[in-house]
Amino acid sequence: ASPTAITVGIGRAAELGVLVKSGEALEASEKLNTVVFDKTGTLTVGRPEVTDILPFGVDERELLRIAGGIEANSEHPLAEAVVRKARSEGIDLAEATSFEALGGKGVLAEIEGRDAAVGNRILLRELGIEVPEGTEAAALRIEEEGKTALLVALAGRIVGVVGVADALKKNSVEAVGRLKAMGFEVLMITGDNPSTAGIVAKETGIERVLAEVLPSEKAREIKRLQDEGEVVAFVGDGINDAPALAQADVGIAIGSGTDVAIESGEIVLIRDDLLDVVAAIELSRKVIGRVK
Ligand code: ADP
Ligand code: MG
Repeated sequence: ASPTAITVGIGRAAELGVLVKSGEALEASEKLNTVVFDKTGTLTVGRPEVTDILPFGVDERELLRIAGGIEANSEHPLAEAVVRKARSEGIDLAEATSFEALGGKGVLAEIEGRDAAVGNRILLRELGIEVPEGTEAAALRIEEEGKTALLVALAGRIVGVVGVADALKKNSVEAVGRLKAMGFEVLMITGDNPSTAGIVAKETGIERVLAEVLPSEKAREIKRLQDEGEVVAFVGDGINDAPALAQADVGIAIGSGTDVAIESGEIVLIRDDLLDVVAAIELSRKVIGRVK
């Protein structure tokens, strides 16, 4: 292998807005056969918006007051969407006196002396809160549109469902299509539920989905693919997925994401454009082809 060709390749990549931190990342690209995309903030814009407010036994404003009060303490993009919506309606958020975020599940809080929660079915199941049929149907309707359904509970009962949508990035569909045309198996991984995840995957042309994967489990899923013999590139924004970036044979970080992504990825994309994933892999292959 010629170090000169690799140095030249790294320089050429930088001109394209692709920072390659090590020659090994270039070399690994040759054997790559699988590309795994994180969903939120990677395939999607990562700035979700509230689209549906379905209260049960309270009115819309009360649902937003409670949900917003719980989420005000969380930095999760879903939480920010709920808080933004409540504030834009001029609602004074309920005050939370205690607060606990459960990664990949939701948030627990105490609101005006009562236990409260916002999150997914897994969270409510763990809390032993029953999800009535009507709630389940409402959540499914939201999920069938590729949105995320947040269940809101107060004092052990469901008081509503909030639907949140996160748009696909402009070039997600094209990037996935080009990678498939190059012969890669393309997967999506997410903590989101299987129905929402399945719709978003379908919209982007991805057939294999790993859904309801807890943040702590994402790296393990990458390891499992590697144990099956796949050589894996993982593309993520660093929210929840830094260990997966590190575990992958080639970790590709969206540079507009988090600092931890930039640290964990071997390849960092300066622009927030998924076509640069394709460019990075094409360039790596060209460089390594020349080195041999
Ligand atoms: P992703 O893998 O798409 O980045 P996360 O692992 O962050 O997703 O979250 C997975 C799921 O956990 C979300 O789709 C949501 O149902 C639930 N969740 C996580 N954080 C929150 C929160 N602050 N409020 C409500 N639900 C949450
Ligand atoms: Mg994410």
